[in-house]
Amino acid sequence: MEYVLETSSLCKNYGKNRILSNIDLKIPKGSIYGLVGKNGAGKTTLMRVVTGLQSPTSGTYTLSGVKNTDMKITKVRRRMGALVETPGLYKNLSAYDNLKLQYINLGLTSYDTIPELLELVSLKDTGKKHAGKFSLGMRQRLGVALAMCGNPDILVLDEPVNGLDPQGIIEMREMLLKINKERSTTILISSHILDELSRLATDYAFIDNGRILQTLSAEDLLRKTTKAARLIVSDTKAMCRVLDNTGFKYEVASDGSIDVFGDINITRMVHEADKEDVEILKVIENDETLEAYFMNLVGNGGEQS
Ligand code: ATP
Repeated sequence: MEYVLETSSLCKNYGKNRILSNIDLKIPKGSIYGLVGKNGAGKTTLMRVVTGLQSPTSGTYTLSGVKNTDMKITKVRRRMGALVETPGLYKNLSAYDNLKLQYINLGLTSYDTIPELLELVSLKDTGKKHAGKFSLGMRQRLGVALAMCGNPDILVLDEPVNGLDPQGIIEMREMLLKINKERSTTILISSHILDELSRLATDYAFIDNGRILQTLSAEDLLRKTTKAARLIVSDTKAMCRVLDNTGFKYEVASDGSIDVFGDINITRMVHEADKEDVEILKVIENDETLEAYFMNLVGNGGEQS
C-alpha cells in the first residue's frame, strides 16, 4: 500500500508537557482518514506538526516518501493543503479574489481553474459578495477551497464542521466526498464526534491524551458496532450450516460462539436450528453505538464536547 503521510514515534512537548507521545500513523493514498479524539486529545497539535506549523520535539514524519528533515520537504509540502483552526480569509474580498490571492501566493500564474474550484465548494454564485458576509458554512467551504488551490495530494482539515448547523455539516460532508472521489485527494480530518466522521471516513485513528489508542478500517469499525447477536449453541458446525442455508451473515468466535449480524428474527432462527437438532442455549444482543464504542475506548474520564 502507498502512504501519503507516515509518522514515526512523533512526539511534541510544550514546555515540560508532553502533548503527543510516539505517534505512529500511516495515511493510505486515496483514503479519508478520520482522527478522532476528545477536546484536548492532541488532534490540532498533530495537524500543526505534520503541516509544518510546529516542529516535532522528536520522531519524524514523511510526506510522499520525503522525510521532514530532508531539504526537499518544502517542495513536497506544496502538495499538501490544510485548514487548521479558522481559515485565513480576507473578509473584504470576494471568494474569487480570496482564491486569486492564494494562487498568487503559491506562484500559480493562470487563474483559469478558479471557477472550477468555486463550483467544487458550491460558491460559484457568490459573485462580488465579500467573504465577511458569508455564513460560517460558506466560510469553511471557502477555507477548504483555499486549501485545495494547486490541487494538493493531501488535504488536512482540523474539525472542519465545528459549529456548523446540520445543513452545513451535510454540505461539508458531500463536498469532501466529492473532492476525494473526483480529485483522488487523500483527506486527513479530525473530529471529536465519531458519528460525524463515520459517514465519510475509510480509516480511523483514535487519539487520547496524546497517544494513538487504536487504528482501524471503516469495515472493521462497522463490524464492531453493527447490530449483532452472539449465539451460544449446542453444535457450532451444524449451526453454521443453518446460517449458511438461511443467508444470515455471521462470524464464528474462537470460543465457538457465533456472532450473527443484522436485524435478526430470533423465532425463525430457532425454528431453522431446530430442524437440524441444534439447540440455541443463549442469545446475547450487541447494539453498541459508535459513540458508545468511542467512549469505551477513551474512557469516560473527560468531557467529550
Ligand atoms: P480541541 O478539539 O479542543 O482543539 P485537540 O485534540 O485539537 O482539542 P490540542 O489543541 O492539540 O487538542 O491540545 C492538546 C493539548 O495541548 C491540550 O492540553 C492543550 O491545552 C495543549 N496545548 C495546545 N497548544 C498549546 C500551546 N501552544 N502551548 C501549550 N499547550 C498547548
